[in-house]
Amino acid sequence: MLEKAYCYETNSVIPAKYARRKKHQLSIHDHYFCTFEGCNVLVQPKISEAGNCFFAAQPHGHHQNCDHYHPPKEISNIQGINHPRPLEQYEVFTPTALEPVANDYIPRREMDFLPTPEQIAEMIQNAVIAIVPGTLEEVVSAWRNLDKLDRANYPLLIGEHWLNYSDAFANIFLSKQVVDVPWTGYIIWGYVTIKSGKVNGVYFLQTMKKFPLGNEFSAIHFTKKASLNIPFDFTNADVRSNIFWHGGAPVILKDRYVLEPPNHAHQFIHLAPVEGETRGQVS
Ligand SMILES: [Zn+2]
Repeated sequence: MLEKAYCYETNSVIPAKYARRKKHQLSIHDHYFCTFEGCNVLVQPKISEAGNCFFAAQPHGHHQNCDHYHPPKEISNIQGINHPRPLEQYEVFTPTALEPVANDYIPRREMDFLPTPEQIAEMIQNAVIAIVPGTLEEVVSAWRNLDKLDRANYPLLIGEHWLNYSDAFANIFLSKQVVDVPWTGYIIWGYVTIKSGKVNGVYFLQTMKKFPLGNEFSAIHFTKKASLNIPFDFTNADVRSNIFWHGGAPVILKDRYVLEPPNHAHQFIHLAPVEGETRGQVS
């Protein structure tokens, strides 16, 4: 099953899962081609009844030498209707850009002639990195899923800068002063403790890391208000977690550092359990 295809309009190789996501700027009229050497036929993003995304070459199918070629009688299998692949066999979605992405960063061109397979093969050689935007939650999930040593191999566009999954994440533990943390243009993370407030839906978070403030030290505090929706299981209060933050630096309020709630589309907060730790172990 073909999971990625070359997109002419964006000159990049795009996962079927992304080609199906209508919320992004990709046009439904975009043209996709099989990336297999010697095939390069026109394909279309499809979704099977099981919800799996793939590219299908219809009506004529792939070139006979292509790995994705199936004899005509098996066409129903190609569509994934009779034999849908289990979802876990699919590559985890690894965005190449943190939302939002300015339109200028997705270069597009119009296709005014149908390129030959040879021309497509050459274009694939010169393809640019596909801009596949993801939410902070999706980017953090991909980061957690990647092997530590492998993260540098995965590009990540944040704002106007190309970074990778290794250098785009800054752990506050590594900075001595609050001002040393690269609050702008990166994803900041660190351990936090979480305590439930008296009001339902309110939680108090503070970083384990403390920074000098005047003659004292202060953790960075964050109050999760009831109105702020963070997809995280707070039901076990008094847990330790990871906080991921993309936005501005904390402010000083009442002699302590306070992270203000996200107040515009370019600020995000996300929480994820600490790796390998059972909930409730830390009091
Ligand atoms: Zn093919």
